[in-house]
Amino acid sequence: MRGRLVYNIGGEIPQVGTLAFGIVDRGTNVIEVRPTSICALNCIFCSVNAGPLSRVRWAEYVVEPEPLLSALEEVVRYKKTDDVEVHIDGMGDPGHYPHLAQLVRGAKSIKGVALVSMQTRLYMLDKEAVQQLANAGLDRFNVSVDALDPALAKKLAGAEWYDVEKALELIKIALEAGINVIISPVWVPGLNDGEMPKIVKWAAENGVGRGQTPVLIQKYIPHKRGRKVEVRPMTWGEFWRKLREMEKELGIPLIPKKGEYNIHKAPELPKPYAVGDTITVEIVARGIFKGEMLGVAVNKRGSAIWDRVVTVAYGDAASDELVGKRARVRVIENAHNIYIARPLRV
Ligand code: SF4
Repeated sequence: MRGRLVYNIGGEIPQVGTLAFGIVDRGTNVIEVRPTSICALNCIFCSVNAGPLSRVRWAEYVVEPEPLLSALEEVVRYKKTDDVEVHIDGMGDPGHYPHLAQLVRGAKSIKGVALVSMQTRLYMLDKEAVQQLANAGLDRFNVSVDALDPALAKKLAGAEWYDVEKALELIKIALEAGINVIISPVWVPGLNDGEMPKIVKWAAENGVGRGQTPVLIQKYIPHKRGRKVEVRPMTWGEFWRKLREMEKELGIPLIPKKGEYNIHKAPELPKPYAVGDTITVEIVARGIFKGEMLGVAVNKRGSAIWDRVVTVAYGDAASDELVGKRARVRVIENAHNIYIARPLRV
């Protein structure tokens, strides 16, 4: 984490607008809540280039629970549905978030939230922390386990100290505590092919999934900004064919049935600025990747429905000296309210 700043994000910065923290709304009843970007591992395939060894990040974020929850409440209300799933995930591992139980309890108490789930590698928690999350109302962990073989698991995680057996132990503890678990390994062809059936069998034997598809295998996909592995990624056709073959061989479902996860469309937050619009922002912090800064549109309304944090792609001109200054920027992307802009004058 050398040279990286860790920002504490409070109520003055909008919770919507970036993938790095806050809330991501993709127009369904599943709302992604991202409390931190911090991760202690360095998975060799990490799509978001997280971890202490990342060479492309220059900032991390930890969001204060109160502004995050109050923004979440507004977004849930906007959805006008009573079956919202709050999915805690992010560009790091939310297991590191210091206010996790508070976040889960707060999310679960919002009218309209039916389910709270969370993506994590689990190893950083202990029995007591898992029990606290169960008491707070956590419904499901999606746990990433890419290999049962301890040496291979360390290699894939990019960390000699990573202990997959501890994660497996904690999965059993979570199930006992009443939290459902789904395992989601990343299948990197040529590296962990033999581990996939082992993980599926282990999951089935230990009651993972509770009737839902116990293991959701993810296809390794190289991402523009992510870490890349020197392998030939599978095509989607190959991937689905292999999953169907494995299903048949093991007699365990690996492809969720339609409707298994109750995901449906729900009103998407409005986009306050269109691509091509010019806006004035105040630069408030570094963006997550080198070359990026975060700006906040100056005409804030004090509402998560309309206020946005904007990533400004400065390139080599990105600098801490810009913080506190105003800039005119042009919006170049706004898909799902993730705002990216370019400065007009540097
Ligand atoms: S894949 Fe997940 S656990 Fe691994 S480095 Fe990336 S964010 Fe961390």
